[in-house]
Amino acid sequence: MNRLISGLLFISLIGIICQSCKIDKPKEAALPQKQYVYLTFDDGPLDGSQDVDSIILAEKIKISVFLIGTEVAGDREMATYYKYYEDNPYIEEYNHSFTHGNNQYNVFYSNPHKATEDFLKNQKFLKIQFKIIRMPACNTWRINNKKQDDCATNAVATADSLAARGFKVFGWDVEWQHHAEDGTPVQSVDEMYRKIMQQLNSGKTFTKNNIVILLHDEMFQRRWEESDLKQLIDRLRKDKNIVFEQLKFYPQN
Ligand SMILES: [Zn+2]
Repeated sequence: MNRLISGLLFISLIGIICQSCKIDKPKEAALPQKQYVYLTFDDGPLDGSQDVDSIILAEKIKISVFLIGTEVAGDREMATYYKYYEDNPYIEEYNHSFTHGNNQYNVFYSNPHKATEDFLKNQKFLKIQFKIIRMPACNTWRINNKKQDDCATNAVATADSLAARGFKVFGWDVEWQHHAEDGTPVQSVDEMYRKIMQQLNSGKTFTKNNIVILLHDEMFQRRWEESDLKQLIDRLRKDKNIVFEQLKFYPQN
């Protein structure tokens, strides 16, 4: 009898221990999802590039710039801004064509061979290290066999020709627009912040948890302390899961 009671007690004890094992078993904590922001500036160097350069040096975040060769050729001031970009460790330079299609995109893309040559010339002229391109006026993507065409003109053949030569072609997920007359931003910092977070969180980007933002150098010609760009950066970096990255590291996760 005593043996039976001891046996029962033993079984109950094991049960209690196992129960507590279950309770105490540490739960696997889900790691917070990192989200990657790629700030990309088109059409430089131009007036405003010097401000972008100093904001980025002060903020120490990584950005990407898509540059036009004709802006640099024969213009000492722009050549100096280009040098600022080259010397800035947070800025990576990429290819936005040599002529920007002379702003006549129908003509430019109607000759894919000539358009491709224009990008190749720019790559050489600006000594661009990475084979990364943004096509003027086209939200066109060619990344690792994934593609998207969203261009008013037919630029498919040019994009395919660039991809066949090993270039990655980047469009954008969201644009911070600017007024043509003075270059000032159209959307407020608040609006842009909400748009970026909403698009990231709804998964409506070319690659999930990665967002490419299009900006232009001439938008930020105010002292950096009061600049809209600095304010947007400050808002985004408050979120510890936001990481600023350059396009050569796209996509993450
Ligand atoms: Zn452009």
